[in-house]
Amino acid sequence: MSITLAGKTALITGASSGIGAATARTLSEAGANVVLTGRRIEQLESLAESLPNEALAVRLDVTDRASVAAAVAATVEKFGGVDILVNNAGIMLSGMVEGADVEEWTRMVETNLLGSLYLVHETLPSILSRKGAIVQVSSTSGRFARMGGAVYAATKFGVTAFAEALRQEVTSRGVRVITVEPGFTETELTSHITNPAMQDMAKGLAASMRLLRPEDVAEAIRYSVTQPEHVSVSEILIRPTDEV
Ligand code: NDP
Repeated sequence: MSITLAGKTALITGASSGIGAATARTLSEAGANVVLTGRRIEQLESLAESLPNEALAVRLDVTDRASVAAAVAATVEKFGGVDILVNNAGIMLSGMVEGADVEEWTRMVETNLLGSLYLVHETLPSILSRKGAIVQVSSTSGRFARMGGAVYAATKFGVTAFAEALRQEVTSRGVRVITVEPGFTETELTSHITNPAMQDMAKGLAASMRLLRPEDVAEAIRYSVTQPEHVSVSEILIRPTDEV
């Protein structure tokens, strides 16, 4: 039996494109009020206008703690609190370790790992008081590290590890923590890769299979947050069937 999200508030990071945008639509269709966050406010505002339930667009840079605090405060002011956090914002700047641009490592760690920690820190009091849920969007790269994705994988292993420890800490207080690990999904993610060889490899891989659509991942997230209170879906690994 799946539970309606009517009256619940979901804060989604990285809602301006890809998996986050699809998740915002899916959770809104399931009845939730949604808070759409990201740096590209125009995309968030136009998405908000197209959703069936109440939606608030808030500019948020997850690497900036003050920005995180302000976005959560805006959510509390508008909706009274946070029931569901979808910690989804992320970047993948693939490349070999040798000769890497260390600045790209810093951006990945600050966005994928530290950013998601800041969001949990800021929303946890509200989520605990409402017996809510935290969805950590990790990756298959949080389970299997591959050459060319060392630092991205390191951040996603970190996201997954944090989620399991957090789950143990809060599950007895009624908060569900869910790790979602998608495989290759058709989004803007690979467009930010600066290394030409890595960019070509990503394009070749994308052309070789039927990729997941953002809506496929959003549906997995919807499933995980609409279970009865005694059911904790702790982990979902979802891959393209064609991905060997
Ligand atoms: P997109 O590039 O389409 O979306 C990434 C989102 O993250 C954007 O909305 C972007 O918003 C946001 N973002 C990036 N940096 C920041 C920042 N500093 N502050 C706030 N928001 C930020 O890619 P996906 O939808 O694919 O990525 C979503 C998540 O899914 C990521 O965590 C990614 O690692 C994960 N994932 C993706 C897979 C794939 O194959 N696509 C596979 C496995 C996991 P804005 O630019 O507006 O700030």
